[in-house]
Amino acid sequence: MTMSVLPKVRMPGSRRMITLEVRRTERISPTFLNVTLGGPEAAHLEPMGFDHTIRFFFPREGQTKLRMPRRDSEAWMAELLLMPKATRPRVRNYTVRRIRPELNEVDVEFALHGDSPASAWARDARPGDPAGIFDMGITYLPPEDVDWQILAGDESALPAVLAILDHAPATLTGEVFLEVPETADFRTGLTVPDGITVHWLARGGAASGTLVQEAVACTELPPGRGYVWVAGEARLATGVRRHLVRDRAVPKSDIAFHGYWRHGRSSLG
Ligand SMILES: Cc1cc2nc3c(=O)[nH]c(=O)nc-3n(C[C@H](O)[C@H](O)[C@H](O)COP(=O)(O)OP(=O)(O)OC[C@H]3O[C@@H](n4cnc5c(N)ncnc54)[C@H](O)[C@@H]3O)c2cc1C
Repeated sequence: MTMSVLPKVRMPGSRRMITLEVRRTERISPTFLNVTLGGPEAAHLEPMGFDHTIRFFFPREGQTKLRMPRRDSEAWMAELLLMPKATRPRVRNYTVRRIRPELNEVDVEFALHGDSPASAWARDARPGDPAGIFDMGITYLPPEDVDWQILAGDESALPAVLAILDHAPATLTGEVFLEVPETADFRTGLTVPDGITVHWLARGGAASGTLVQEAVACTELPPGRGYVWVAGEARLATGVRRHLVRDRAVPKSDIAFHGYWRHGRSSLG
């Protein structure tokens, strides 16, 4: 994770390094590609819903095999760094968009952007290609007594926000802001609680993250206690949080904010 100040994470009961294979891919819109992974080891992934985060392992360019770390703990990172680069897999952070336990299937939605390692892997993924998963739990943990919520993010956080909405109680009230590259990336036919309004924002030529920040700044906050979950490019996440804390007096403890990626900087691994 690039940055995450809210320390609250709920971990699954147990975690294992899981190796799956691509079953199929589906282009959802110009930016989004869904990759369905499957295999018997999917049974070890506890369905947590919401922003269920995973470390996603895939072969480095030129590698034909996936060599997964063996440690089922955070020690995997040291193990990975000790592997020679020729055999070391790539690793990135992704979100479980859906799990179908009865089919041992997991969906991961990739926001494609250029020829980056993960985008290239997803674009070229074919049935049978190996990929690995290590569970990182969830960070969407609203207090029980909140009156309203704001969920906000860019395309990297869209899978998490949609999965949060999929698991939301019917009583959820609030505003959702999703900034995506173009109008063709808007999702239609979403089923959301009656108290939720989803605002789709097409970036067009605007600087990444600015539309979400402007939209949140123009939103009237209802009375009572709120909870905000915001993720995306690092400046989007910090900008929304700074505004809510400084200008709207939202307590820091009621805001979960996550830099999912950073302009001009590749993820480690
Ligand atoms: C907890 C968590 C969950 C995430 N879930 C998802 C998810 O479900 N789907 C998803 O698509 N992403 C998700 N992300 C974001 C994803 O991990 C990053 O976008 C990651 O950098 C992608 O790796 P890469 O190999 O494509 O690019 P990198 O090698 O990391 O970066 C290469 C270049 O691309 C730029 N870049 C990276 N990401 C983006 C982007 N999204 N748009 C434009 N430019 C970018 C970088 O600034 C860099 O210049 C998540 C991140 C976190 C921390």
